[in-house]
Amino acid sequence: MYDVIIIGAGPGGLSAGLYAGRMGLKTLIIEKLTPGGQITQSSEIENYPGVCEVKSGLELMQCWPEQTKRFGAKIISEEVNELRIENGEWRIKTHKNEYTSKAVILATGATPKRAGFKGEQEYIGKGVSYCAVCDGYFYKNMDVAVVGGGDSALEEALYLSNIAKKVYLIHRRNEFRASPLTVKKVKEKENIEILYNTTVEEVKGVPFLNTAIINQNGEIKELKVDGVFVFVGMNVNSSLVKDLCELNEYGEVKVDLNMKTSLDGLYAIGDVRQNSVKQVVASAGDGAVAALNVVKYVKNLKD
Ligand code: NAP
Repeated sequence: MYDVIIIGAGPGGLSAGLYAGRMGLKTLIIEKLTPGGQITQSSEIENYPGVCEVKSGLELMQCWPEQTKRFGAKIISEEVNELRIENGEWRIKTHKNEYTSKAVILATGATPKRAGFKGEQEYIGKGVSYCAVCDGYFYKNMDVAVVGGGDSALEEALYLSNIAKKVYLIHRRNEFRASPLTVKKVKEKENIEILYNTTVEEVKGVPFLNTAIINQNGEIKELKVDGVFVFVGMNVNSSLVKDLCELNEYGEVKVDLNMKTSLDGLYAIGDVRQNSVKQVVASAGDGAVAALNVVKYVKNLKD
């Protein structure tokens, strides 16, 4: 039996694993994809304290799994399907195995939301993308559209503007949510054209996307683009615990200042928890807080 099982190996999960291992807990981290989390899809990180050179998310996260393993945590690649508690013992079922632990830290993060236009699902991999770092290069010297008005959309529009010939930034309102500095950079970029009060209605093209039908201030227009990148926010991945502990109206897990949920022995960190600021540094901090409190919790079980 493990002292703690951490579900998810993004910045929160890896930081929790590092702290738990270093404090002597028998620690297992289960990740369904590769370690690193959502941030590995970000093109540029310039706000992680102490990392003074601008890095890609992938570069930033590169050594985190090794550092975590150095302190004893084990990281495996399996998908967790079920989480339950029986006689005070946590049982974590994956598609391959069942593991047991004294405590669980949920670090499952969030996944990109769909914008909801016609053809969005059908054209994934054929012109619709949720990751500029992964797919941007395919659009070298082509015209693309970015949908959204938050930090992700504007940062990725900037990234794409260095690869694509032209970037149309499509936002449904006339005011951005992104930070003022990012908005300024976007406005200064010559090959980014901002389309305010605009939504994508449909995407078309055979076999690959070549047209977006847009609605600009009520007027329907055709936009010739080869790719549409969607950055319209995130859905939290809390389904594993929805019947176990309290969630808020957005499906985020309610936690206290120790990252403890409404159920003893269950902690939630990073983007899956309520009031998360969705920053790498904050998730890493959450991981440390949760792990140090799990150490106390496990010790109390023994005493
Ligand atoms: P976000 O801040 O929630 O922004 C989502 C954007 O998508 C909003 O502009 C929203 O429009 C628009 N939108 C939502 N649903 C839509 C739909 N169906 N069709 C068209 N547009 C739609 O999401 P985010 O940009 O992913 O950022 C999430 C969090 O991570 C934020 O707290 C952000 O600050 C943070 N973040 C930080 C950094 C950084 O610090 N470097 C980088 C990326 C993200 P409205 O504005 O009209 O609602």
